[in-house]
Amino acid sequence: MHCLRCGRCCLHLDIFIVNPSSILADGSIDAADQEAMIIKPAGKKCPHLAQQLLHPQEGEVSIAVCTIHHLHCYRGTPCEQFEQLGPEDAVCVMSRYLRDLDEE
Ligand code: SF4
Ligand code: SF4
Repeated sequence: MHCLRCGRCCLHLDIFIVNPSSILADGSIDAADQEAMIIKPAGKKCPHLAQQLLHPQEGEVSIAVCTIHHLHCYRGTPCEQFEQLGPEDAVCVMSRYLRDLDEE
């Protein structure tokens, strides 16, 4: 699935995320830590979501960045599984649906 980096799923979905305070210095989590995963409720911005400015010739563009995407603790999370939904070469269909929710 091709992610458009809109960040809407990181705002609109109920999803289990890695607890920011459970991330160890090496980017992993302790398997015995029972609070390592917490629920991020729909409508609440994920604490791991950031915006990054790009500077294409036609003007400044902001894209969503997951700040733990590269860390070991991200592997196997619902977010990683979500990114794998749908055909590998297809654009994310959730983005447009969630944008419509923004506009309601
Ligand atoms: S809604 Fe889709 S396109 Fe937008 S950030 Fe999430 S996965 Fe990417
Ligand atoms: S952990 Fe990353 S991908 Fe998952 S909701 Fe938060 S910012 Fe989005």
